[in-house]
Amino acid sequence: MGTWHDYLNETGTPPEWPYPIKFGEETEMEADVLVLGGGIAGCWAAITAARHGAKVVLMEKGDVKRSGSGGPGCDHWCNVPGNPLSRMAPDDWAIQEMEALGDFSNGIGIQIQCREDFDTLLEMEQMGGKIRDTDDEFVGAEGRDDKTKFMVSPRYTRHAGYLAQPGWDQPGFNPPENRYNMTLRIWGSTFKPILKKECLKQGVKVLDRVMATSLLNEDGVQGKRVVGATGINARTGEFIIVKAKATVMATAGSGSLWMMDMEHGGYSSMFSRNESGDSSTMAFRAGAKLTMMEGSNPYRIATGLKHKWYTGGSDASYENVPLVDANNKVLPVPTQSWADGGAMFTYAGPMKDRVQEGIESGEFELPFYGDFAGMKKEESNATWNLMLNEESTTKIMVKTMTEGGFDPTKDQIMDYSFQELQPNENFRDAARGGGILVDWDLKSSLDGLYAAGTATFSPEDHSYAAATGRYAGRKAAAYAKGTGAGKVSREQIDQEKERVLAPTKRTGGIEWKELHNGLSRVMQYYVGAYRSEKLYDLALEEIKRIEENAVPQLYALDPHKLMRSLEDLSMIEHAKIIIQAMKERRLTSAKLGVKRLDYPNGDPEEEKNYLLLRQENGETKFERLPIRFWGNMKEQYEAHNQDYTGVWKPEN
Ligand SMILES: Cc1cc2nc3c(=O)[nH]c(=O)nc-3n(C[C@H](O)[C@H](O)[C@H](O)COP(=O)(O)OP(=O)(O)OC[C@H]3O[C@@H](n4cnc5c(N)ncnc54)[C@H](O)[C@@H]3O)c2cc1C
Repeated sequence: MGTWHDYLNETGTPPEWPYPIKFGEETEMEADVLVLGGGIAGCWAAITAARHGAKVVLMEKGDVKRSGSGGPGCDHWCNVPGNPLSRMAPDDWAIQEMEALGDFSNGIGIQIQCREDFDTLLEMEQMGGKIRDTDDEFVGAEGRDDKTKFMVSPRYTRHAGYLAQPGWDQPGFNPPENRYNMTLRIWGSTFKPILKKECLKQGVKVLDRVMATSLLNEDGVQGKRVVGATGINARTGEFIIVKAKATVMATAGSGSLWMMDMEHGGYSSMFSRNESGDSSTMAFRAGAKLTMMEGSNPYRIATGLKHKWYTGGSDASYENVPLVDANNKVLPVPTQSWADGGAMFTYAGPMKDRVQEGIESGEFELPFYGDFAGMKKEESNATWNLMLNEESTTKIMVKTMTEGGFDPTKDQIMDYSFQELQPNENFRDAARGGGILVDWDLKSSLDGLYAAGTATFSPEDHSYAAATGRYAGRKAAAYAKGTGAGKVSREQIDQEKERVLAPTKRTGGIEWKELHNGLSRVMQYYVGAYRSEKLYDLALEEIKRIEENAVPQLYALDPHKLMRSLEDLSMIEHAKIIIQAMKERRLTSAKLGVKRLDYPNGDPEEEKNYLLLRQENGETKFERLPIRFWGNMKEQYEAHNQDYTGVWKPEN
């Protein structure tokens, strides 16, 4: 059968919902450690907690096998200074990385990543993941180490602060002393199914297709210890209650608060569609402290409004592919190649300006191409057959184009970066940055609640999620071992059940898409390119109107639509948290991603602090916490991990 239209033509009726409907029914279970979100961080947390003897339940909105941003794949394992080819010690690299990322990075997470990233990668290999060129497919590619068969990526080979160095934008910049070999090329599409298999092998109870909806506090009191969570099965509608001694939040960030556009894909493809701000929303409602919620940036790459994930040359997986114009003239855009040392410069900086001028004067003719044919054969082979094949969404492109006859040793691929150059300031992203405040145990401000991966404040990438997930699993298991079960409140559960099932009690009104679209419009108009106190207040007023008029009409005819409706409700809360944080920051600050018409200047005092938010009795409370609150990264890490035995040791 072809399309939905064909189906209706043939059968005359829509198909029956294929699963038993269990709205109102309940299942209750108990765990030492409950993990919410079965993406990269969540899987690692679940496996590690189970390895440490905990009884683990893992709740995942999709299917753990391929869910989340890292589900389809990953080609770069970044920040791995413990690898044998690295030329800087993890503790030193961690400081450089933290400083290069700026005042509002996450020194705790980065230190954990740098210390434990290589151990995590080796554990992935033990589980069956492919991390080296064991089949000798890429012999001769630059960066391949013939002894270990590791493949160093041309990306991030340099000093973390290289962008601050004079000459960074000039061809020829990347002297050998700037290369530190901090990123490995890996076969990331193999990882996620292996992680699921390992969860099952370790006895983790995997609840696929269950969306976590709320955290449970001890005695039902906001701000008290977290003692479990509730969820809803997205196929049957059954309500799930899990009582747990410790809970790890790993439901990542959000990618579609500013955008709901059916025609163009409608969300950032940098984040899984399942990410709807649930980490922050659930933690906030339970009384945990959040931080970095005030920042937002326009989507630059990977939105449904752009051609596709990446643009055909000099960017990310294509980092070593040179760009040429329609007449084969090489553009003065350094790729991240071994020789040049540029980095995604098609989007910003003097190189972009130079090429744009060239387009306008006629020096360079559009369209541009990624010149695979002009590369060394071994290099184009590694880029096409390893990097783009493993990098998640580009796998389909490799398959389609290969079937269509594309040969990476002979052909060029069109590059869209200069046709899609200007980001639309109204389509924004709040996810990177905002999240749960954590301490050196990756524990939140609430007892019993831990966070990992993108759910933490100022998170990094795939290997950050893996290493912090592994770490949080270890810490949560240790906490659970030393504590008894907390008391859940039936009243809190009943209130949540009523909230969650409300859309199923209606048969008409407003569906989730309409509500999402309305909310995104509010964000685009009032929290978009221009932002000020007045615009924020208008946004909050509009959101209140949505809550008063649209939410009581929200209806869901099946459990899947119920899940999408609950995501909308989560996004409404997420939007309110973000706007409140934005209002509280009365300044303009590039490092915070905050720009206001009414406060165009910086504020040096304010910029010395993280802004924390938490909810108490329905009110938002603010607090400031000095930047670098984590102290000496090496000392603190060691003090908190005396019993950790990894592969990388300070004496290595
Ligand atoms: C196309 C693409 C390519 C990328 N390439 C790389 C790369 O090469 N290298 C790199 O370092 N990084 C890469 N990244 C980033 C990397 O994938 C992410 O940093 C990483 O997946 C984050 O891990 P996480 O566990 O925080 O989130 P995710 O892996 O996204 O996991 C979050 C999980 O939570 C689930 N979830 C959400 N809400 C709920 C809820 N309420 N209840 C239950 N479950 C829920 C989601 O379904 C998801 O499975 C890429 C990302 C994309 C999109």
